[in-house]
Amino acid sequence: MSTRAPAVEARQLIKTYPGGVTALNGMDLTVGAGTVFGLLGPNGAGKSTTVKILTTLARPDSGAAKVAGHDVLRHPDRVRRAIGVVAQKSGADPVATGRENLLLQGRLYGMRGAAVQRRADELLDRFDLADAGTRQVKGYSGGMQRRLDVALGLVHRPEVLFLDEPTTGLDPEARTAMWDEIARLAGDEGLTIVLTTHYLEEADRLAERIAIVDRGRIVVEGTPDELKGELRGDAVHMELRTDADRAAVTAALTGLPGVYEVLAEGRRVSVRAEDGAAAVPVLLGALDRAGATVAAATVARPSLDDVYMRYAGRRFSEAEAADAQQTPATVAAGGAR
Ligand code: ADP
Repeated sequence: MSTRAPAVEARQLIKTYPGGVTALNGMDLTVGAGTVFGLLGPNGAGKSTTVKILTTLARPDSGAAKVAGHDVLRHPDRVRRAIGVVAQKSGADPVATGRENLLLQGRLYGMRGAAVQRRADELLDRFDLADAGTRQVKGYSGGMQRRLDVALGLVHRPEVLFLDEPTTGLDPEARTAMWDEIARLAGDEGLTIVLTTHYLEEADRLAERIAIVDRGRIVVEGTPDELKGELRGDAVHMELRTDADRAAVTAALTGLPGVYEVLAEGRRVSVRAEDGAAAVPVLLGALDRAGATVAAATVARPSLDDVYMRYAGRRFSEAEAADAQQTPATVAAGGAR
């Protein structure tokens, strides 16, 4: 980690939207300079609201934040000069060419003459848009538009680049290309990248550090390996033939030797086990005695989904489905924290 001051420091951000939705509920965030930092969370977790506050597009109800050393509330103009923002929705003018978009953006930041022309050409080259640079943006593919969006965010050489859901809506090929692009950017001298994503794999691949956001706050933060490493043993996921009696299933599995976390929801039952493969027959037997028949079982090394489940008490995909009424049963048994 760099010895420079943090690129982002946010303390206890609270934001409630009209209508009473609490989007941020005590958001604390520190992003080291020169790192790629991932804000990972399901839809509605509060990632975009955090980015809006950090990029001076929204004000928190309370709390404080500094970006590139500048206070977002007291010196929003300084923050804006120090950051690049790639929003979910493209800011490019569809009837202008890629090059014209870059020139306009550069001029908005006070760049002039040959310098802005050079910068536009450099970015077109770099983002593999040199040939497309003289074509109208409306004819670009989704991946090309997204690359242009990132180039637009970089014109004025910002210290901190915010990428809000950079690959949402891209096909798998364009997504992989964008991942390579972001990984390359990360090597840029001193550039800090803050990216929000609801793709577990994206955060795992790109971010040096990840903060998992749930219901408007950070539930856990660390490197992907640290987070996964905190989970002992294997994850065993089982699918029952019919919906489980949650209490009965939990009681049947809790306390089995080498099994130390049980989560039952609907037909899905997950546990953590010291040795997943060895635990499967034991788990199947215990479930059978409790009257539950297992249709399928898988053993896996810990994933970020398991990390999310541990700290948020529900599966990522279920949180994405955004069922506000959901009240998952989480039972931590044995040595689990
Ligand atoms: P994410 O980016 O993680 O999907 P958001 O920050 O967009 O989450 O949203 C957090 C919560 O705030 C959600 O419940 C969302 O519906 C709500 N929200 C976001 N923007 C607005 C708005 N302009 N007005 C009212 N509610 C909003």
